[in-house]
Amino acid sequence: MTSLLVTNVGELVTWDDERPILSDAAFVVEGGRVSWFGTRAEAPAADTVRDVAGAAVIPGFVDSHTHLVFAGDRSAEFNARMAGQPYAAGGIRTTVAATRAATDEQLTATIARHLAEMRMQGTTTIEIKSGYGLTVHDEARSLAIAQQFTEETTFLGAHVVPEDTDLPTYVDLVTGPMLEKCSPYARWIDVFCEQGAFAEDEARTVLKAGMAAGLLARIHANQLGFGPGVQLAVELGAAAADHCTYLTDADIDALASSDTVAGLLPGVEFSTRQPYPDARRLLDAGVTVSLATDCNPGSSYTSSMPFCIAVAVRDMGMSPREALWSATKGGARSLRRDDVGHLSIGARADYAVLNAPSFIHLAYRPGVPLVSSVG
Ligand SMILES: [Zn+2]
Repeated sequence: MTSLLVTNVGELVTWDDERPILSDAAFVVEGGRVSWFGTRAEAPAADTVRDVAGAAVIPGFVDSHTHLVFAGDRSAEFNARMAGQPYAAGGIRTTVAATRAATDEQLTATIARHLAEMRMQGTTTIEIKSGYGLTVHDEARSLAIAQQFTEETTFLGAHVVPEDTDLPTYVDLVTGPMLEKCSPYARWIDVFCEQGAFAEDEARTVLKAGMAAGLLARIHANQLGFGPGVQLAVELGAAAADHCTYLTDADIDALASSDTVAGLLPGVEFSTRQPYPDARRLLDAGVTVSLATDCNPGSSYTSSMPFCIAVAVRDMGMSPREALWSATKGGARSLRRDDVGHLSIGARADYAVLNAPSFIHLAYRPGVPLVSSVG
């Protein structure tokens, strides 16, 4: 096994319990894992040496919420929204029509293109949801395609009720034949619990059916208004309640006393011109927070975790350090992973080298391509 010493690291973020951030640092990679880190002066010899000339090195981003299996473009809808039209959950149906009409090759190529874009911006772990097929065949093929790119695949048949059916019939389909066909390709079950999508009872039915089939639960909750989604996530022990834009004190208390991660997706509020979630309130209550892109063609067509960090710092009350933690280790918690999102000993050596002396530049220099390479 050959070893690589990455040295002359101006600032190394490990999130290790004892030394979470080091200056003038180095680390060693062996067999794809971090085998040593410390100050540059203490660094051991290795087979190969890479000098990063004082750059900051951070854990690769863990984007715990994306909808990358899609076709089509909704720039006209965005344009109308910026002219004052409100966002509604029904816009999803536009992408459903385009996705059903696309070939497997087209869907695969679209994911590959977006993943390359994400990697250039420092993302090394990604979750991908289905949810633009909404037939047994189209949901199953969406997940089979997604699984070629990541083990973190999520069955989101309960994204919105398709036009040609009614709610009870569709819930029966999602929790019956569709789940049966999709569960072999998925690790997670998800539901869009929102006005205009699925109400509390249907959301509970969907998640419980998925859990009974061996999937782990996560949920889209409290995005467009106050609602039952967050409490349902906690009740079912879901790994993540994502969005969390409208929360009562009781919702925050429930999250704080649970293992459920609150996933904040600031690209959505940016792109739909809605109020941002209050990250400060969550953090002060002791809730574990993740940051993700929610990359999708309707409500948040960004693939950039640095962009999400910049918005979270500027407008959601997070410090740059908190935002980076949420975009890396917080994302890993959301996916119940302990091998990614950090660079302590034994972690996967997924890291991003920044064209900057400190991770603070991720928020300080918004919109600037700061990731110079990904390891
Ligand atoms: Zn989403």
